[in-house]
Amino acid sequence: MRNNIVDLRSALEFLASIPGQLVSTRTPVDPVAELAGVYKLVGAGTPLPPPTRTGPAMLFENVKGYDMPVVVGILASRERTALLMNSSIERLPFDLLDALKHPCAPVMVTSAPCQEVVIRPPFDLRRLIPAPTHTLLDAGPYFNMGLLRAQDPETGESDVTIHRLCVQGPDRLSVYFVPGRHIDQFRMKAERMGRSLPVSINMGLDPAVYLAACFEPPATPLGFDELSIAGGLRGRAVELVQCVSVDAKAIAHAEIVIEGEILPGERVREDALTNTGYSMPEFPGYPGKAQAELPVIRATAVTHRRNPILQTIIGPAEEHTNLVGIPTEASILRMVERSMPGRLLNVYAHSAGGGKYLAILQFQKRSASDEGRQRQAALTAFAAFPELKHVILVDEDVNIFDTNDVLWAMTTRYQGDVSTVFIPGVRCHPLDPSQSPAFNPALAAEGTSCKTIFDCTVPYRMKERFRRPEFLAVDLAKYL
Ligand code: MN
Repeated sequence: MRNNIVDLRSALEFLASIPGQLVSTRTPVDPVAELAGVYKLVGAGTPLPPPTRTGPAMLFENVKGYDMPVVVGILASRERTALLMNSSIERLPFDLLDALKHPCAPVMVTSAPCQEVVIRPPFDLRRLIPAPTHTLLDAGPYFNMGLLRAQDPETGESDVTIHRLCVQGPDRLSVYFVPGRHIDQFRMKAERMGRSLPVSINMGLDPAVYLAACFEPPATPLGFDELSIAGGLRGRAVELVQCVSVDAKAIAHAEIVIEGEILPGERVREDALTNTGYSMPEFPGYPGKAQAELPVIRATAVTHRRNPILQTIIGPAEEHTNLVGIPTEASILRMVERSMPGRLLNVYAHSAGGGKYLAILQFQKRSASDEGRQRQAALTAFAAFPELKHVILVDEDVNIFDTNDVLWAMTTRYQGDVSTVFIPGVRCHPLDPSQSPAFNPALAAEGTSCKTIFDCTVPYRMKERFRRPEFLAVDLAKYL
């Protein structure tokens, strides 16, 4: 069933038409910790602490203290993500690569749904929009699906990226940039010129826009407009509109846009309002530390559609995995395919690693001389994605999206002493608490790791011995 999604509303309408993909509740829910607590049980998934599971997206119609509903978990299952992209669980990264090869640049429009209602200062973001707090230890309420768009102050090149935004005051947000991110480079350039950087914060979007925005270099180098990938995915350009209060552009079909500017020289401690020491749960599955000094956005206007819906995501779980993992899979497939065509059949950036730390590679050895090439593919995956820590290699007859099947391969096609490859002391990612000299004295610094290849492929010469039983193929529809 093909969809014709252009925005969050059409995505919700589509999901409502499929059993088990969207639930809603009228029970009043507090945006402080309660909403997240409910969705942890309903559908957030790994690696949140149990009990949790992968389930439907959820619409909270009645958020205490606000007259704005909140939707969460639109992309919190791979199956649903595939449905929303007119794809399949297996084909998702290939369809993303296709869009990367056939980009469609955004276009400007002069009137936009996201500006049906315009709110100018003075306003209080904390009263207008129900930004949720995940846990009682969080630094404060966060906008977690705020897609920032900004332009290079010199070249005009643009970038879109999701960054976590903590509400710090009536018109103030802190923004956390992982070092090297493109909008942060624009910000530093503007700051050196003594200028503020105009931004739009776009919330409640076509899921294709969010997914495309999560591509990172080298797939999308500085200056590459990720919105053109979303255009490629949909076969239709993303529409942009001029902001009403700053020199920036917003996504025309967004539910809510916060317009603003990143102020030069101004910094705030992330937990300045709460002093908890923490930010929010992060993708490796642990509470994040509050950042000591973050850039500050001053909001200059809020625009929204009539009856806007706030879209959010619950922390370090299945939705984050899909957002960052599927573009990662695409990057790995592209790089390995270039160096050894036809062997790497598919890749899954597993949710246990938040879409970043763990990749399962499905590799087909076609001849005796392919023995060992599977490990070369793993090394190439590490090159394609520096934050990758563990690679599990399996054969073409293993379902990489079924963890049971992968663990079966690791049980019957793996011998620890000969099937494990250690690559010690490599720069990786500081948010994994095991990547520290305190855990492993052989590590030189925080964020370095022993990267490991778990080769669960059958030696080519022994293929016959590992043949799986063949069951009759039947058309299941006839029996159900
Ligand atoms: Mn970029």
